[in-house]
Amino acid sequence: MKYLSTRGDATPRRFCDILLEGLAPDGGLYLPEHYPRIDAATLERWRALPYGELAFEILSLYIDDIAPADLRALCRQTYTRAVFGSDAITPLRPLEAGVLVQALSNGPTLAFKDMAMQLLGALFEYELARRGERLNILGATSGDTGSAAEYAMRGKHGVQVFMLSPHGRMSRFQQAQMYSLQDANIHNLAIEGVFDDCQDIVKAVGSDLAFKRAHHIGSVNSINWARLLAQVVYYFAGWFQATSASARGGERISFAVPSGNFGNVCAGHVARMMGLPIERLIVATNENDVLDEFFRSGRYRVRAAAETHETSSPSMDIGKASNFERFVCDLLGRDTARTRALFGTELARAGGFALDAATHARCASAFGFASGRSTHADRVATIRDTWQRHGDLIDPHTADGLKVARELRRPDETVVVLETALPAKFAVTIVEAIGREPPRPAALEGLEYLPRRCRVLPASADAVKAEILASEGLGGAAAAGDAARA
Ligand SMILES: *Cc1c(COP(=O)(O)O)cnc(C)c1O
Repeated sequence: MKYLSTRGDATPRRFCDILLEGLAPDGGLYLPEHYPRIDAATLERWRALPYGELAFEILSLYIDDIAPADLRALCRQTYTRAVFGSDAITPLRPLEAGVLVQALSNGPTLAFKDMAMQLLGALFEYELARRGERLNILGATSGDTGSAAEYAMRGKHGVQVFMLSPHGRMSRFQQAQMYSLQDANIHNLAIEGVFDDCQDIVKAVGSDLAFKRAHHIGSVNSINWARLLAQVVYYFAGWFQATSASARGGERISFAVPSGNFGNVCAGHVARMMGLPIERLIVATNENDVLDEFFRSGRYRVRAAAETHETSSPSMDIGKASNFERFVCDLLGRDTARTRALFGTELARAGGFALDAATHARCASAFGFASGRSTHADRVATIRDTWQRHGDLIDPHTADGLKVARELRRPDETVVVLETALPAKFAVTIVEAIGREPPRPAALEGLEYLPRRCRVLPASADAVKAEILASEGLGGAAAAGDAARA
């Protein structure tokens, strides 16, 4: 399989060439040259497979530069009951007539990002060893991504993680989850500033090309194709659980997806392009409704940081959807010149673009997309109602998905709502909704009382660079071990 850029750079690349990269050199995102089609017989054969084997079957259609035996071993070792809590890995449960919930959040950090990040950790370690290289992952987080990356990379050979977070601004649980990691290759850097300061520092370090090259700086952001590919697997797993073998591949179901950067639902789009019988992909946003506005109107209008609301489903608080360009490229029939004009020129010039009515209509008619939005009041009401009527406690992001699924579901439609986090991560909103604390998995009791490993730094790119140098034994200033203890 060859990979191409959405903006037209057609230098042929294979999977391992793009695994450790972010954007394509022309600023676009990588897409496979085509989507392999799965016929009904293959689909039925896959139904019986354990999750790790299913992952191997799907990944091997897109990866031809890792030996199949190795890829199979990586998939098997990643998706285990020990890490994800059940043999189903992403178990499905019925909620009410026509609505089911698929749990993607039973991994180590209790959010769906573990599904992809755990595999990425295994792939990175494998590929770096093969090349005899090492990598320093630099990232900024306000919550889920950073912890998922750290838990995926902890103890992995050849990889170090430098994760910037806004000092004192994440939830108590999220801070404890990250800062309690004691692994030598994980570096928590609490920056005296807000999340945007953290992101600015990552950008500043990344744009120092000499430093970047000399110190092997990389990232694990949501545009990474390997992350997206790993997420395709659970759409198949969900479909198998929601349909019966006797329907012989004819049964169509829909997915409702709490969305921010369009990574999760873009994987659903890929699954649908492969021929998985998906009726609709229902995009749910919170008050940051960039995507809902697009699917309703055909107008894509990115928001500045100041226009982005802080909400009670914080992992969906985005001003622009970084994976969206992939879908638009497919929508435009892979017209990469037009994609480049929209995302390169128009976005920079006008902060957005509008599609003609005929192209916009194809989002629904040809690609199955629908959308809706949810607010703080909606998500609190949905959490409360679901708890009172069904005894089922869901997190605020999943509540956004369920709210929109209920609103849009047609008679006789089966909708699978993707559960993207567990309520334990978002206690404040759960208490507001049901008047009591969410339960916590037993393994995480007392998390807040564990010793912490975290360094507080001023909001300065130089201070972060000094940390990276010190970890390589090259610097002096930051090497003294004064890790903050809470
Ligand atoms: C990241 C995240 C989302 C949004 O997923 P995207 O792939 O960015 O659309 C939704 N819910 C939770 C809990 C998340 O961590």
